[in-house]
Amino acid sequence: MSQECVFCKIIAGDIPATLLYEDEDVLAFNDISPQAPTHLLVIPRKHIAGPAALTDADQSLIGKLIKKGTELAAEVGLDDGYRLVMNNGEKAGQTVFHLHLHVLGGRVLTWPPG
Ligand code: 5GP
Ligand code: ZN
Repeated sequence: MSQECVFCKIIAGDIPATLLYEDEDVLAFNDISPQAPTHLLVIPRKHIAGPAALTDADQSLIGKLIKKGTELAAEVGLDDGYRLVMNNGEKAGQTVFHLHLHVLGGRVLTWPPG
């Protein structure tokens, strides 16, 4: 737990979020500023600053995060396509330094991303 981390505060229940899923390892909730009709975030309970901070010990956790993202995408009806995104570092647009997987869908998503 990081005192200043907004996602740790959501995990602790100190900041409200629309929870879609939670278990002993991961949580999923709606993004507060959706960039698509469906925009979910899947995060580990463990505070990890971002993709580059993952260790070998986190391999099953990151696998679970991605698997859960795909399961939630199916549950909310994103059958015809969605995007899983992890931003790493400020230059890539990372603003919250607690690992998170974006699940975006519900509209046509252009490529390459900006
Ligand atoms: P990043 O830019 O780091 O890849 O993604 C961070 C995401 O967290 C952004 O899409 C932003 O809208 C979302 N976010 C930031 N603060 C909050 C919050 O307090 N609650 C929720 N639900 N999402 C948040
Ligand atoms: Zn955190």
